[in-house]
Amino acid sequence: MKNKIAFVLTLIIILSCKVAPAKTQTQQIPVFMYHMLTTDSHKTNNLTILQSAFRSQMNYLKTNGYTTITMDQFYDSMSKKIILPAKSVLITFDDGYISNYKLAYPVLKANKQKATLFMISHEVGRTSDSMNAKQLLEMDINGFRVESHTDWHENLGSLPYAKQLNAIRAAKTSLEKLLGRKVMYLAYPCGSYNTNTIKAAHAAGCNLGLTTNEGFTSRLDNPYRINRIYMGPSDNLKTLKHKLDYGKQLMWHINTYLL
Ligand SMILES: [Zn+2]
Repeated sequence: MKNKIAFVLTLIIILSCKVAPAKTQTQQIPVFMYHMLTTDSHKTNNLTILQSAFRSQMNYLKTNGYTTITMDQFYDSMSKKIILPAKSVLITFDDGYISNYKLAYPVLKANKQKATLFMISHEVGRTSDSMNAKQLLEMDINGFRVESHTDWHENLGSLPYAKQLNAIRAAKTSLEKLLGRKVMYLAYPCGSYNTNTIKAAHAAGCNLGLTTNEGFTSRLDNPYRINRIYMGPSDNLKTLKHKLDYGKQLMWHINTYLL
């Protein structure tokens, strides 16, 4: 009797352990988020990294076969199911600091790599620390595309719907006038957004909304909740590799203090 029970149990286990059909894994895309660059090692901070570090990160991507895709390519992969290169990454910058033009743009240009700058529309040419219209136009036609980071860097998630819509629309209109083309993508300042933000971004005609939530993104994600991966002053090739593989940083204290 015992043997019979054992036989039946074994049979059940064998039958229930059918090999699952191979699933096609959805491609996971890292979207890196940078802010400012400097050449002075005393001036790095959470939003400012050394140009030499940025250069070595971009060189690593290039020599290891990564393709820096555009927002349009990523959006097409979502909306038209267009297949992206196998090792695709998105490089993004927020705010529009002058160091993007002076220190990041030459590196990207030399490597023929593409990036996206999310510009605060009211900051265009406002101070010596922000980019002017001429610089933005030059970058925009040379692979460093300009998109929206709202009008005044509004904390969207804290505003009523109508104000969110105004902040998104005003920036879109202003940047479109400057660039002479449609501006379709929005990065939420400080990563602040809520369901009204998503409605407002959609109503204003933006096709993607980028957050500061950490992780990979994929063509199956909500287009208004695109994850990004923070890049800071403690990042080096080891942490870059980890982020390319896992879509997030190592435990923050290790990342910050030990590597
Ligand atoms: Zn910002």
